[in-house]
Amino acid sequence: MKNSLLIKNISYLVTCDEQDRVFENVNLYIEDGAIKYIGNDAYNADEVIDGKDMIVYPGLINTHHHLYQTFTRNLPQVQNMELFDWLTTLYEIWKGLNSDIIRYSTYVGVGELMKNGCTTCFDHHYVFPQEESDEFIDIQFRTAEELGVRFHASRGSMSLSKKDGGLPPDSVVQTIDKILYDSERLIKTYHDGSQFSTRQVVLAPCSPFSVTGELMKESAILARKYGVRLHTHLAETIDEEKFTTEKFGMRPLEYMESLGWVGEDVWYAHGIHFNDEELKVLAKTKTGVAHCPVSNMKLSSGVARIPEMLEMDIPVGLAVDGSASNDGSNLLEEMRIGYLLHRLHSSRKAPTGYDMLKLATKGGAKLLGRNDIGELSIGKAGDLFMINKNRIEFVGTQYDPKSLLGTVGFKGKVDYTIVGGKIVVKDGKLINVDEEKVIYEGNKLVEKLISNN
Ligand SMILES: [Zn+2]
Repeated sequence: MKNSLLIKNISYLVTCDEQDRVFENVNLYIEDGAIKYIGNDAYNADEVIDGKDMIVYPGLINTHHHLYQTFTRNLPQVQNMELFDWLTTLYEIWKGLNSDIIRYSTYVGVGELMKNGCTTCFDHHYVFPQEESDEFIDIQFRTAEELGVRFHASRGSMSLSKKDGGLPPDSVVQTIDKILYDSERLIKTYHDGSQFSTRQVVLAPCSPFSVTGELMKESAILARKYGVRLHTHLAETIDEEKFTTEKFGMRPLEYMESLGWVGEDVWYAHGIHFNDEELKVLAKTKTGVAHCPVSNMKLSSGVARIPEMLEMDIPVGLAVDGSASNDGSNLLEEMRIGYLLHRLHSSRKAPTGYDMLKLATKGGAKLLGRNDIGELSIGKAGDLFMINKNRIEFVGTQYDPKSLLGTVGFKGKVDYTIVGGKIVVKDGKLINVDEEKVIYEGNKLVEKLISNN
């Protein structure tokens, strides 16, 4: 028996396809997770949703997060700090992470993303306290599956502690052997590179100032052996630039290039402080950038050169970054704030509202190495979200549904989020987990984590 879903009489279907098509008053039919039909014919389906007054968009794709940080949000002691001080203060709390915190922060962070239209999430987990961390990524995969999202987990890592000239404390760094062993185990256990995959593994040493060059190099070799992707933080701050220049005699990108870290299978978080020559290297090698406007503003890190990157065809996706520098998990907000930030900074050269939507969909798919998600067309995954346009805040905005989310923005919870033809959010509520329980247990765990410090 095939699983099927028909969404009928959709007011606007924004496809983000090659022709940038928007259909009006159409039906969308999904069978066994894939889009089979868009048009006016009726199909019998197991489940039917009335799309009257609905705008349907491709599911959003988050390309950088640290889900555990949802439990260290809005902490007064770090609100005025920039990255390096912010990190060294927070490491002292993060070294208390345990399995329950990983499970519940994944519910919370991914849950909030899904309630705001996200259907695929990449998480960059890199804090593995020595006492209890062997199953963190396994737990994340199980929790994400329960929620019903497509999940790209990373085996992040830190190997350069304070005593060796790095930033993190000893208790959260691991040996290179342990990191590589666990990376290979996770790839073999979970990575599925096939079409419509729901589980993928990425190797993601944390940053040039918390990882040795040897680990960066070995991680790239291991990733390429198995055909998985590579990710790290880069060019986020001037402090980082000073660190690599003083320690290695190279600017951050030059340093990463020397370790084998450019290419179509690599994307960096932030990418703010690239100079003209470095942008050319990214364009030539097709190395990507996860743009995190809210985090970059919150930590006063700077403004990424997104208009130029798009002009040069550098792959760019959108991301919320960890919740300690955001302090939320909402790509809809990221789209609007990114749009406004670049309008302020670049005027006519800024991405349009629709460009922001494409960064959050097709752009993200490209960074994650996927051509089966990020747009709504025949043969692609049935990943989408729906917003009822009949609301006060949308009156007068409906002539351009493509740009709506960037220019006007949407601040409620979406009506539906659907992953592979399965409803995972309905009327703004998560379908597969008990939200009340997550809120209760989550708050209890946060209290314990924070009061230990
Ligand atoms: Zn980050």
